Amino acid sequence: MAQSRSDANRIFIAGAGIGGLTAALCLSRRSRPVTVIEQASELRPVGSGLQLPPNTMQVMRELGLEDALLPHVVAPRAIQVMTAHSEDPVAEIPLGATAEKRYGAPYLVIHRADLQAVLLQAARASAGITLRLGTRLRDAAQNADRIKLEFERAGDDADPQAPLDHDTGAALIGADGVWSTVRRRIMGLRGAAFSGRTAYRAVIPVSEVPQRWRNVTGLWLGPRAHIVHYPLAGGEQFNLVALVEEDWQEEVWSAQADRDALLSRFRDWPRGCRELLSLPSSWLKWALCSMDPGTSWVDGRFALLGDAAHAMLPFAAQGAAMAIEDADALARHLSEGMDDVPRALRAYEAERQDRAERVMRLSRANDRIYHMRRPLSLARDAVMRALPSERLLARLDWLYGWRPPGA
Ligand SMILES: Cc1cc2nc3c(=O)[nH]c(=O)nc-3n(C[C@H](O)[C@H](O)[C@H](O)COP(=O)(O)OP(=O)(O)OC[C@H]3O[C@@H](n4cnc5c(N)ncnc54)[C@H](O)[C@@H]3O)c2cc1C
Repeated sequence: MAQSRSDANRIFIAGAGIGGLTAALCLSRRSRPVTVIEQASELRPVGSGLQLPPNTMQVMRELGLEDALLPHVVAPRAIQVMTAHSEDPVAEIPLGATAEKRYGAPYLVIHRADLQAVLLQAARASAGITLRLGTRLRDAAQNADRIKLEFERAGDDADPQAPLDHDTGAALIGADGVWSTVRRRIMGLRGAAFSGRTAYRAVIPVSEVPQRWRNVTGLWLGPRAHIVHYPLAGGEQFNLVALVEEDWQEEVWSAQADRDALLSRFRDWPRGCRELLSLPSSWLKWALCSMDPGTSWVDGRFALLGDAAHAMLPFAAQGAAMAIEDADALARHLSEGMDDVPRALRAYEAERQDRAERVMRLSRANDRIYHMRRPLSLARDAVMRALPSERLLARLDWLYGWRPPGA
């Protein structure tokens, strides 16, 4: 057996993504020793934009990261909702100062890579966190007292003949994303399934984008597809995502997409929309996966968080947010309950599961509503036009108004 750094109270987190790094920081803040295992040997700036709604900013504030995030974020003034038939908004949901006043924290958007870099820098500066990049979790076992883990080196320069590495600790947290090894291989649960939806993404300089779109989140609804766009990177970049009903299946984040096929798919949409879509010279795509609610996230000393627990369609823009909320709750329960780790993990699950499943249901409902065809879409648009804009926001108070207990 290779060298072991065994520590009876050490918590192991698989995955240095958004949820894993946030969980490590929340645990370390409560003086718990943590090791984060990440298969990537380098956290490259992959991906595009994510929403950091008020419910996540409460956690970022507690971690003291708000100032570090500020140069990278944008606080859109509003969400403007258009349709495949007209670029005149059918609704405008106020964000900006209205959201900040209502929820006590701002509604922000950020590039995933910028958020991960801020979290990573804070984790590196934290004496209680050990980071092991280029290390893939392969397997794990547990008994009443501890967990035992098996790793392999991963990454371009990894030697396939190298012996496996082992370690022991108090708990294993699977924050290893939508294709989670902890979920599928170690806990034996059903993984995420392809949803028949594909997301096309591009990031371009904001200077190329008409002024009208630089300060808002745009949401275009149409038959079997919708489009989301917003500024990023402190207002320097612009994020475009087209989400289409297309049953392409591959477990990758960044496949090259066919730009012409994408543009042709939206050829009947309003001119302003088509002009935006034609700005990027190339597009990347990833296949959207989701899980069915109802499976347990905890087995003894093993627990799941983020996408590994509840991968959902990104149609409520809450994937990262739920991972961040999970991280806060996990750290609270674990730090108070190290004398009985399985009980602490069950308490974490009991606190989080209903809320995450409610957001999963919202994402599925949005899938139906956003992609309606006529005549149903006419009724949808009429309802949206009729509702006062603050009412549209108030319907999401249960979501954005969340905060950690005591915050
Ligand atoms: C490279 C990448 C790009 C993404 N781009 C986007 C995007 O553009 N838009 C969007 O909405 N969402 C994107 N996501 C997903 C988004 O980050 C999540 O939906 C959300 O933030 C919840 O995060 P999470 O912490 O649960 O998982 P993630 O942020 O997905 O992190 C999971 C981490 O676990 C690591 N991992 C997986 N298996 C193992 C293993 N066996 N051992 C060790 N480490 C392991 C992965 O390398 C990854 O770093 C991306 C995710 C990744 C990994």
